[in-house]
Amino acid sequence: MNIVKRLRTFLTLCLVLGVMIWLGHGMETKAAIVSTGHQKYSYTEYRKDLQQLQKKYPEYCQVNVIGKSADDRNLYEVILGNAQAKKHLVVIANLHGREYMTTQLCMSQIEYYLKKYNKKINGTKVSKVLNEVAIHYVPSSNPDGTAISQFGFGAIRNKSLRAALRKMPGSTTRWKANARGVDLNRNWAVAFRRGGTRGYAGFHGNKAASEPEVKALVKMVNRIEKRGKIVGVVSYHSTGSILYGRCASNATSKVEQITTRMYKTAQSLTGYRLMPTESISSAAGCSREYFLYERDIPCITLEIGRGACPLSIREFPSIWKKNKDVVIREAMLFD
Ligand SMILES: [Zn+2]
Repeated sequence: MNIVKRLRTFLTLCLVLGVMIWLGHGMETKAAIVSTGHQKYSYTEYRKDLQQLQKKYPEYCQVNVIGKSADDRNLYEVILGNAQAKKHLVVIANLHGREYMTTQLCMSQIEYYLKKYNKKINGTKVSKVLNEVAIHYVPSSNPDGTAISQFGFGAIRNKSLRAALRKMPGSTTRWKANARGVDLNRNWAVAFRRGGTRGYAGFHGNKAASEPEVKALVKMVNRIEKRGKIVGVVSYHSTGSILYGRCASNATSKVEQITTRMYKTAQSLTGYRLMPTESISSAAGCSREYFLYERDIPCITLEIGRGACPLSIREFPSIWKKNKDVVIREAMLFD
């Protein structure tokens, strides 16, 4: 082979290799684990995504089962960053079944923060923040309610639960409650009183924390607080592009001060409208009031979306744009 031929072969090889690297890089940046292009982000898909995220980022992400729903689905906690940190931020989504886009949003945030782990967001290194403040996500707190909203009562596997559900009022698509017809955002041990009737929405339960999903969340909070401090809770719901960040006079001044910082951060990113103060009695049994007044933990609630729930997937891109940095920026308030 003469020198010209050798050189030509070498250059061709370089070109092929270059194209392969370029293609590979393109695929790497495009290959998201969490899909946000379809309407029904199901429990099966959610579980598969959690497995893949853990496999891809084993050093930065830990997945625990914190309990089971009434229909025996796993309730997952995803810990980002240093689980032994002194400070912890808790994110709770999908307490209401039909608000399942909040699961998709949290899963996308998790993947995005993991991808950016050794990079910066808003000028701060993500790894530095997560080393000081671990984030504990519960992306789906009501997987049974979501299964009902997405696929109807047939998705409930337990025969007696299914039979009882068929007698309850309300449309399955608009189902907010769990598989026992209890509203999981009215079942917390704060100014609890009985109210509503078993069905798609508004039933408080027969007693505070009667539901396995609420019990599991409280147990998780107790476990975290045994070894560290929960600096704040971010709660995701999905009606109206609004924000709950004000405190009633029952809150300590410190809780109120930090909650204010938290809502201002969320407001600056999302532009969501801040709602007026709610009295403890009008918010009886609500999770946010439980954290603020029973546990002295600062807490904000974000309601994503504009349309009726379940939100159309067409809303996802604008919701993502507003919310993608929210949780990490909240953690940055405490690092
Ligand atoms: Zn809700």
